Amino acid sequence: MAEYLTYPFKTMGISQDHNGSYSHTKYSEGKPSDYPVDETGADRGSDWMYASVDLKVMKIYGRGIPEKPNTVWLQTTKKVITPIGFHFVCGRVTHMSDGDLKGLKVGHVFRAKSKMFREGTDGNVTGRHLHMTWGTGKFKDSGWIKNNRGAFVLTTTGSNRKLEKLFFMDPNFTTRIRMSQGLKFKKKPTVRTMYVKKRRVKTKVRASYSVSSKVVGRLKSGTKVKVYVTYGNWCCVGDGRWIHKKYLRNIKEI
Ligand SMILES: [Zn+2]
Repeated sequence: MAEYLTYPFKTMGISQDHNGSYSHTKYSEGKPSDYPVDETGADRGSDWMYASVDLKVMKIYGRGIPEKPNTVWLQTTKKVITPIGFHFVCGRVTHMSDGDLKGLKVGHVFRAKSKMFREGTDGNVTGRHLHMTWGTGKFKDSGWIKNNRGAFVLTTTGSNRKLEKLFFMDPNFTTRIRMSQGLKFKKKPTVRTMYVKKRRVKTKVRASYSVSSKVVGRLKSGTKVKVYVTYGNWCCVGDGRWIHKKYLRNIKEI
């Protein structure tokens, strides 16, 4: 069973979103772009970032070199459920201390629900935080590329995305929102059982949440499906499988 990707801090303390004029516009408005946030947690001491699903360490940069900010690239070990469906997800996280990276090796898998590292100031930044940026797909090339504004943006086999498109909020884990910069995260859904409505024709299953996306299957009336997440008017019923909500209901029609 695929797992839901949820926000990795117990207290959300986003001090700067991707549009943050302090230092992030060179990432989000450059070519290519990514969508980083700075996370400061509860801001009492150093707060932990957790692995909400199994995350594999793909690259470590800057460890032990004061002027190079410590950076770790992480990738999910399998597809996970995001607000935009089933995807591999890859990201990079920066500014944790050398101490938190001691002994960490590329290939290590942080198991779901475990602590990974804390916010820090490595790389000469003011104020403890973690800068993180995420995208769909897998780790690609060196993990980053310098854009036309001089910022090093994430490279993946998919596309860089805003955090709200990749992470759900689990209110049982993230129990406090201290600062969000107005970012709205969808609540982690529960899987619902639904049925394909009675029709004269089979109902199309599409690869994505759009009528222009490829038809990947057709289901008979009454077929039972599991809805993992909805996006607009579309229900995700599996990896790369979406059905328009008007063709589904929660009771089987005979
Ligand atoms: Zn930042």
